[in-house]
Amino acid sequence: MKFEELSDIDELLKKHDEYRARCLNLIASENYASDKVRNYLSGDFSNRYGCYTTMNMDDREYTGNKYINEFEQATHDLVRDVFGGKYADLRPIGGHMAGMAVVLALLEPGDLVIEVHLADWGHGLVGPMCELRQFEETINVEYMKFDKTGAVEVEALQKMAVDLKPKMIIFGGSGTLFAEPIKELREIADRENIILAYDASHVTGLIASGVFPNPLDEGADVMFGSTHKSFPGPQGGFVVSDNKEMMTKVGHALSPSLVTSHHLNRLPAFAASLLEMKKYGKAYGSQIIKNAKALAEAMEASGFNVKGSSRGYTQTHLILVNVGEYAPKAPGKLLEKAGILCSDDFAGSVPEIRIGTPEVTRRGMKEANMKDVAKFFKRVLIDKEDPEAVLKDVEKYALSFSDYEYAFK
Ligand SMILES: *Cc1c(COP(=O)(O)O)cnc(C)c1O
Repeated sequence: MKFEELSDIDELLKKHDEYRARCLNLIASENYASDKVRNYLSGDFSNRYGCYTTMNMDDREYTGNKYINEFEQATHDLVRDVFGGKYADLRPIGGHMAGMAVVLALLEPGDLVIEVHLADWGHGLVGPMCELRQFEETINVEYMKFDKTGAVEVEALQKMAVDLKPKMIIFGGSGTLFAEPIKELREIADRENIILAYDASHVTGLIASGVFPNPLDEGADVMFGSTHKSFPGPQGGFVVSDNKEMMTKVGHALSPSLVTSHHLNRLPAFAASLLEMKKYGKAYGSQIIKNAKALAEAMEASGFNVKGSSRGYTQTHLILVNVGEYAPKAPGKLLEKAGILCSDDFAGSVPEIRIGTPEVTRRGMKEANMKDVAKFFKRVLIDKEDPEAVLKDVEKYALSFSDYEYAFK
């Protein structure tokens, strides 16, 4: 494709939209923001600067910020209302940058962090950062352990915290099945001066819905994450906390160090999606989890080995399926040929696929539909049917769910 006219651009975008409408999107880190929310992304804010470098948002570097300032403050109020926390920062343009800001603001050279290993579906805020020489030499990282069901091993983590005295523990990953033991670490954290941070990137929408424990209520000092995974907003990031000193440091790491233009056009769209979640979040979040559980049961009944069966498979929007027996390598690409989009991971000890329900739930699927979805997986991975043949049925199925629910129309 060569872009010469605007129509070339339009044509390729149209192809993308048509292609994705025919796919069954089970990528746990994606969602469909409503058209109302999407429309807000194209406003004038996308060409404006809203720099501020202190906790006082009235103290602006740029002129012309009269309504931008008011808008940002009102959006912060909404964030505090939905997620709790006395202080919010919405300048990170994604969950990763939000985590970087927390890590860079609150750690000193020589500090140790305990986080989730990539092999356990960690996102890896500190581990991969240590591949950069500057960080490798200054920040140390250890990893929390998970049991066979996918839950954090509480006692092992308590012992690590006491023995290793990390400066920070970062809970939360990209494959969170069960709520983490934050309460169980709070007392040790107080005694040993450990910061409990929560990476909510995946479960933000469930927390907003009130169907997953809010880490701040459980005792986390600071929470950060993405606004576009289980939370159906525009792509973006956030940090919230009750701790003014920490948030001052986080804000200072963000500006002027990490970000100067914070992509203001995200904010009207994010504010709209916050209002949407206040109205529809409860119903949406609980259906996401019901669907995830129903899908786990249907996958297990189809012959797959689903993680966490003894704990009811999942408390979140995703399930982890061991497909080693059927697809030793790259099942994600094979499934993609059949129009089924999900994630695979082979960093861990078992080859797993991660299947998420935020988008199909938004598309209107309920528990009964999860049986059909499990059948598509079975046809490709267990029955080894030609993916092209399965694709035809997947496309028809996906197209019959082209609308969306739990949203302003
Ligand atoms: C997706 C993810 C991130 C990164 O968020 P972006 O919004 O993609 O920048 C950080 N942490 C975890 C656990 C994630 O899953």
